[in-house]
Amino acid sequence: MPEMRNRVEIMVPHGQFVVRQARCPQGCDLMDAEHPIHDHHSIHVEATCEGQTGSLYLDPVYGSHDNIAELEIPKGEIVEFTCPHCGTSLSDPDRSCAKCSAGIFTIHLPKGGFIEACRRGGCLNHRLQLVTGEQAMQRVFDELGMDAFL
Ligand SMILES: [Zn+2]
Ligand SMILES: [Zn+2]
Repeated sequence: MPEMRNRVEIMVPHGQFVVRQARCPQGCDLMDAEHPIHDHHSIHVEATCEGQTGSLYLDPVYGSHDNIAELEIPKGEIVEFTCPHCGTSLSDPDRSCAKCSAGIFTIHLPKGGFIEACRRGGCLNHRLQLVTGEQAMQRVFDELGMDAFL
């Protein structure tokens, strides 16, 4: 897969990584101090499903899914995620979930990294992947106390 050359995907063990900064593609800060999850700032996105729109606060602890949702997201439904500040879609049209082939949405992290998650209700719960640029990779390993052996 030559198009993958410039990115490195890392599966991170659950519960060992907390998102501290997250942005929409336009650069809006998505971190929310008013809806903390596990004592950490949550990641605020807007979710639209079955014609209803509401705020969704994502658990910033990687691999943990104690999200706070203002709307019901039925299992199997495809959710449209947008930035709550500027309305930009977070969907990535070029990628799909390896598990259920639904679309993917992306949350940007500092230094070119980002997190991807499946847009299908229910599948969201077990499909979350940290993707980071090569330059950011060593820093991630450092933060995890791990050594890269690539
Ligand atoms: Zn935005
Ligand atoms: Zn999926």
